[in-house]
Amino acid sequence: MSEKIRVTIWNEFRHEKHMPEVQKLYPDGMHATIGSYLAKDADIAVTLAALDDPEQGLPDEVLNNTDVLVWWGHCAHHEVRDDIVAKIQKRVYLGRMGLVVLHSGHHSKVFRQVVGTTGNLSWGREQKEIVWSVNPAHPIAAGIPDHFCLESEELYAEPFAVQPDELIFTAWFEDGYIMRNGMVFNRGAGKIFYFQPGHESCPSYHNEYVERIINNGVRYVKPADFGMDIPDGAPCVHPHKVIDEFNN
Ligand code: ZN
Repeated sequence: MSEKIRVTIWNEFRHEKHMPEVQKLYPDGMHATIGSYLAKDADIAVTLAALDDPEQGLPDEVLNNTDVLVWWGHCAHHEVRDDIVAKIQKRVYLGRMGLVVLHSGHHSKVFRQVVGTTGNLSWGREQKEIVWSVNPAHPIAAGIPDHFCLESEELYAEPFAVQPDELIFTAWFEDGYIMRNGMVFNRGAGKIFYFQPGHESCPSYHNEYVERIINNGVRYVKPADFGMDIPDGAPCVHPHKVIDEFNN
């Protein structure tokens, strides 16, 4: 890993081009808004990527120099190339890259393939949401109060077809529904953080707590410094080699 955390923020970047209300909230795209607050930290280097960029924004030279990939997709999940999804999965599983999946990314090929589930959940009209911190000692909850309110978010609700390894936030919605909405999955040698707020026509990525949570999530899933390279394959282990090292 380099000294800086190299974060690539990938956005489908279609709603912002075609929907005036979304354009108003995120004139340069949600990825640019997220990137501008992450880049305020001197130890984070941000790259922006979009579906309609060459190589869908993720040529090998970008992917291979990404420590944490942030993913926002919604209406064009099916357009994302399978070979790119496979490369992302491999890089996460080998512990070379962390993954942060936002909002409707729960149904992306990337989330489904890396986490290994349908990602199915229930959803409904925009309404008031309260995000509850249910694991306050967790690094992703650092600086977040016991709860905060988003005046307008899209309803996402249980049952959410996942069983996370670490649950950090849950949500209450005005219509009475709840959702486990901030969670970490361990897969292979890598980590994935999923966080629900971020519907395109809601201002959630301008909320200071949402920003802080994404920042904390990026830091939490970034690859550990293993002091070794996790091999891409199954190396043959020689019997007695480790014992011999200690004896000699
Ligand atoms: Zn949405």
